[in-house]
Amino acid sequence: MPREVHNGARVNAEAAPPPPVYLPNNNILTPLMRSPEYVQMSTAAAITLGIMPGRMHRVSCTRCLNLLLTYPEGCRANCAYCGLARHREAERDYADRNFIRVDWPAVPYGEVLRIMERGDRAFHRMCISMITHPRSDDDTRVILEQWVRRVPEVPVSILSNPTTMQRRDIEDLKRLGADIFTVALDAATPEIFDRTRGKGVVSPHSWDHYWEILLAAAEIFGPEKFGAHLIVGMGETEYELLSVVQKLRDLGGHSHLFAFFPEQGSLMDHLPAVPRPQWRRVQLARYLIDYRGHRIERMAFDDEGKLVDFGLPQEELDAVIAAGVAFRTSGCPGKFAPDISACDRPYGDSPPRDIASYPFAPNRRDLEKIRKQLWPSEKIQKIPS
Ligand code: SF4
Repeated sequence: MPREVHNGARVNAEAAPPPPVYLPNNNILTPLMRSPEYVQMSTAAAITLGIMPGRMHRVSCTRCLNLLLTYPEGCRANCAYCGLARHREAERDYADRNFIRVDWPAVPYGEVLRIMERGDRAFHRMCISMITHPRSDDDTRVILEQWVRRVPEVPVSILSNPTTMQRRDIEDLKRLGADIFTVALDAATPEIFDRTRGKGVVSPHSWDHYWEILLAAAEIFGPEKFGAHLIVGMGETEYELLSVVQKLRDLGGHSHLFAFFPEQGSLMDHLPAVPRPQWRRVQLARYLIDYRGHRIERMAFDDEGKLVDFGLPQEELDAVIAAGVAFRTSGCPGKFAPDISACDRPYGDSPPRDIASYPFAPNRRDLEKIRKQLWPSEKIQKIPS
């Protein structure tokens, strides 16, 4: 890596002053911004908060204010599927990198708090996305503490970075008022984990340590208050992924699914997105395990680990499909219902023309498309009303 771009050297050396709102732009010099004074947020959150103009396909707002810690040095990990990964530093400064398919504008955190104090009630939840950076743990505490003091009515989730954390860090976050603690496990097996975010890509993460932190979170935060992110379609079988979903549920937590999508600029950007039939099967099975008390042992899988029977009478399955909730974005809940995620991440894992996670309630036409994806060879695709 050339020295002048390594570890944010150029951004630190130039120290350009940030504008009131920095919209990612790779054609201008990236200003110097550091958390906790500055945070980045998803495009959907920035539109909802009113700090940037824009409209989203079939969605008027997001219910989760997703904040991302920001430093010129960026994330020091190198996960193969991630747009924020370290290997991009020669090509693009951290604050200009795409992450889950969208740009992340940056603003002073104080401005976010001021807007929220004025009474913006669209958000049902705030989430702090940590990254792998030496300041990440301390700055997360500062951001959390200020939020809880000034916007106590909006609960906070932590999307943690276990690599820099110990058990006492989880205890601190709980004590400071975090509501839910999640771990971006992302990979469903130790082999895929190691290949995509461990030694395979010269990245510091370890499967064992991620699970150590996850199990500690289960104890400290308790049932319904912890969970893990999983990406579907990185080479795991459906059985392997759903085994992790069941394990999390047995511990009292929930899994939040992402459909694998080749993030532009990532090391995996040449690979195909997860096939829709696989994605829909896993999405539906995960919903049954997480919210309908169903179990993986009652489902059937073929020799390659593909789900071939959900283990429910067809009528019951049809009713769950028709309700549509199973196909919405999964994440930490908002105020509507325990199984409806506040974190709707509009088009974070697919383009609007071929939606993977629906950031709204799917309508009848959406449900017919979903059913075709679930059973591509069936002739009768109608959803019972
Ligand atoms: S630790 Fe998270 S933010 Fe950093 S490269 Fe990996 S997935 Fe991306």
